Amino acid sequence: MDNQSYDVVVIGGGNAALCAALAAAEHGAKVLLLERAPEAKRGGNSSFTGGGFRMVHHGASDIRRVVPDLSDADIARTDFGEYSAETYLDDLGRITQYYIDPDLAETLVRNSTDTVHWLMGRGVKFLPNYGRQAYNHEGRFRFFGGVVIYANGGGAGLVEAEYKAAAKHGVTVRYGARAMTILRGPQGVEGVRALVAGAEEEIRARAVVLACGGFEANREWRTRYLGPGWDMAKVRGTRYNTGDGIRMALDIGAQSYGQWSGCHAVAWERYANDYGDVDGQHSAGYRHSYPFGIMVNANGERFVDEGADFRNYTYAKYGRMVLAQPGNYAWQVFDSQALYLLRDEYKMRGATKVRADTLEELVGRMQDVNPEGFSKTIREYNAAVKRDVKFDPNVKDGKSTVGLAVNKTNWANTIEKPPFEAYSVGCGITFTFGGLKIDTSTHVLDIEDMPIPGLYAAGELVGGLFYFNYPGSAGLMAGSVFGRTAGREAGGYALRAP
Ligand SMILES: Cc1cc2nc3c(=O)[nH]c(=O)nc-3n(C[C@H](O)[C@H](O)[C@H](O)COP(=O)(O)OP(=O)(O)OC[C@H]3O[C@@H](n4cnc5c(N)ncnc54)[C@H](O)[C@@H]3O)c2cc1C
Repeated sequence: MDNQSYDVVVIGGGNAALCAALAAAEHGAKVLLLERAPEAKRGGNSSFTGGGFRMVHHGASDIRRVVPDLSDADIARTDFGEYSAETYLDDLGRITQYYIDPDLAETLVRNSTDTVHWLMGRGVKFLPNYGRQAYNHEGRFRFFGGVVIYANGGGAGLVEAEYKAAAKHGVTVRYGARAMTILRGPQGVEGVRALVAGAEEEIRARAVVLACGGFEANREWRTRYLGPGWDMAKVRGTRYNTGDGIRMALDIGAQSYGQWSGCHAVAWERYANDYGDVDGQHSAGYRHSYPFGIMVNANGERFVDEGADFRNYTYAKYGRMVLAQPGNYAWQVFDSQALYLLRDEYKMRGATKVRADTLEELVGRMQDVNPEGFSKTIREYNAAVKRDVKFDPNVKDGKSTVGLAVNKTNWANTIEKPPFEAYSVGCGITFTFGGLKIDTSTHVLDIEDMPIPGLYAAGELVGGLFYFNYPGSAGLMAGSVFGRTAGREAGGYALRAP
């Protein structure tokens, strides 16, 4: 057993952990970061992301401050809109059915823009997300759904820049290092016990930051907490987030918080691997263009309003809807009117895709779909579409269906113009919503709502932020805001501690 001593130990190696490690080091603390994954697979779910950040902004001039090389031509062809703190808070409230912890929501929103600037100061570069968050429609882009920017190089680029900054700030990183237990003494946290390359080590620290993800990669906990069937979901990202941080904190008296039966889960390539693969084409699994088509189940029936809102506000809850269908799968169906809008992943190798010039041929090729049910659905759907309303992918265009049991509220083009394409999807889990209770300074709270001295948390394992649903690109933003706060607070505490 090797004995070592630090001011702050950060557990986890993704965005929240790196923000915490950086902020603690900037505070003057001696910091150790423990990443369970080997170096080649470091970075957690953060490295799998598209790198989107949801921040408050007031239009082009704020965006230019974050993207200094934005050209005048880009500005001229783009409507960035505005995303005020009030709208952000409204979105968080509405999306979570007003269960969100209001103090955590305020902290996230009010610190979002400043934290993006803080990341820029540490080498992260941001770009506007044309194509994903704004479509080229009649020569103009208009950003929708509250998100404009993403980190250069996506999640992989973000994490790379953060590891570089951590090295520059003198953070020690150990890979293949799985924290197992938090050491708690009479005054509070005293360190952690970890398995490093199969050997147990005790690491002394005045403060510990937990930033080691949710329990999405733990098949057994998924079934236990999310419910039957969740063992069958594919994990979109890292295999290392198995709930260790949550368990370790609960073991020393932390309070569980948030929606333990809830998670972020999307319609995902049906035959995707069990976990994301950082070396492979993990992004090939995305099937986020469903607002421009329809989704049908094994009976050939629609089961969800594909156009209820911008995809940023529906995708994270529709994975659950797919999982609930017979056989846990569905097909997304598009006609030639929408094919130009499909995201690049639809064209990548590994997509379960069929194409045909007639709908009869198409359904014949769609594995395990009832053809009569499908034909009836298409007939009724096409008859219900408001044909006189103009289609516009950048706004909620109100082009809806009328009179169906499950109506489509926006972007309801008919499915009638060949060629037709269909893509088979299953459920891909992104991260879990239940976790630990923290205050706005990221102290982990016990059942009496009292801080456990020296223990801080940030990122996915924080409960109370998301319920039922999630607004796209709030995860990295939350991890950054609370990670930075956790590092600052833990660093300050450790240096003050006797
Ligand atoms: C495919 C995909 C796309 C996404 N796109 C976006 C997006 O564009 N924008 C957005 O905001 N969010 C996105 N998300 C969600 C986002 O990934 C998470 O909200 C965010 O990355 C969580 O950060 P984190 O640091 O809490 O967790 P992670 O980045 O998952 O980091 C957890 C870390 O803890 C480590 N770990 C686990 N157990 C232990 C242990 N016992 N000891 C030591 N280390 C341990 C893991 O190895 C990992 O490094 C996406 C997620 C996926 C999967």
